[in-house]
Amino acid sequence: MSRGTKIVATLGPASSDPHTLERLIVAGVNVVRLNFSHGSAADHIARAGLVRETADRLGVSVGILADLQGPKIRVGAFADGAVQLHPGDPFVLDAACTLGNAGRVGLDYRDLPRDVEAGAVLLLDDGRIVLDVERVSGGEIHTRVRVGGTLSNSKGINRQGGGLSAPALTDKDRQDLQTAVALGADYIAISFPKTAADMHEARALVAAAGGSSMLVAKIERCEAIANLDEILLASDGIMVARGDLGVEVGDAAVPALQKRMIREARQHNRFVITATQMMESMISAPIPTRAEVSDVANAVLDGTDAVMLSAESATGRYPVETVEAVARICVAAETSSVNTFDKELLDRPQTRVDQSIAMAALFTAGHIGARAIAALTQSGSTALWMSRVDGGVPIYAVTPEESTRRKVCIFRGVYPVKTVNHASTREEAVAQAERALRELGVVGHGDRLLVTLGESMGQPGSTNTLLIVEVA
Ligand code: PGA
Ligand code: MN
Repeated sequence: MSRGTKIVATLGPASSDPHTLERLIVAGVNVVRLNFSHGSAADHIARAGLVRETADRLGVSVGILADLQGPKIRVGAFADGAVQLHPGDPFVLDAACTLGNAGRVGLDYRDLPRDVEAGAVLLLDDGRIVLDVERVSGGEIHTRVRVGGTLSNSKGINRQGGGLSAPALTDKDRQDLQTAVALGADYIAISFPKTAADMHEARALVAAAGGSSMLVAKIERCEAIANLDEILLASDGIMVARGDLGVEVGDAAVPALQKRMIREARQHNRFVITATQMMESMISAPIPTRAEVSDVANAVLDGTDAVMLSAESATGRYPVETVEAVARICVAAETSSVNTFDKELLDRPQTRVDQSIAMAALFTAGHIGARAIAALTQSGSTALWMSRVDGGVPIYAVTPEESTRRKVCIFRGVYPVKTVNHASTREEAVAQAERALRELGVVGHGDRLLVTLGESMGQPGSTNTLLIVEVA
């Protein structure tokens, strides 16, 4: 059964040995995520190499997403590794403290005291612990515990409502971005961007490093919601980063924001990944909860391009089972759906020739009952545009460019197909595509296949032709 929604799986200790990685890819992983919040540059380079090797051996395309840590603000370390906080207790966050105890703890972001004031609410460890700020003096933030619990080393801090001034790209991120380009990341995710300028800066750094990775903006700050439009325009895709976002805006606001982000991403011709806690219980259990099944299915119905696994695949006990479960939930949601969510995109005024051809292909496919669309594409853009509308027809991105085949791995309903070489004529290119799809069993004798291509073969952005092919 073909699945249109893509699966992103984070690699970690539970999934980086060759055998498990191979099983993950066979189970349906389309894109692996290298989480730069953990591990060394050498770890990531080794993992990327193994992914490329395994994908080649299996004859499939697998994208690599390098996810930069960003300015995640964390508490420092405790003398005993952790402390117990009780409601009503005073607790101090102290920029100068080196080793914490039950009364105070250090901060890795020394400017935090400047960003908060009495009345601010700080959420620690993804919101599990809540502190009310009573006063700030110098580098000390004096708080009162509202919701207590165990607080251990290096747990994250968010401010409810946002407003932290830390820039999106830290020195570590700049270093890691070089590593990401060097290992050939197909996509790089920027954590905690607030504005389009953060994405422009990242784009310039990628270009300066000689890379061409697509850029993903992780939407996880209040400010990013306010600036969603400009951030979308400055990015190739976004991530609905529900972990940090839920802490900043309140968990109850996330479902509606997810729907809005997915809709707007598609309207802007951008891709979108829905992330965090999708299969959380499968970190330690072989089957998901009903709530998790519904969550994944609803993200599919919302129109997400991809669903992402974090700890489930990085450190969990059942990484392969989790991917298998996500795959079957996606397929069921896709086949059950009565999606009409973005048909209106077809009515959008198109001024570009290549975009108009993409829309014309979808329109035609629906009317003549085509089995598939083959987009003969250099950059993958035509396939992206077509996939922004749920046309109910699979889109095959046919290209000799390996990097393009990997990029389209994240687009919903788009499947990469390899052609051996650059065809010199149009007829040859069409015949190649037809042959490749026949060999894959996608089309057979008498089927109608739609082909989009450009007259000057091999030039990105030149798509100007739509052919209707009757398969021999
Ligand atoms: P993270 O981002 O896992 O890197 O924190 C995703 C999220 O915040 O949901
Ligand atoms: Mn996050």
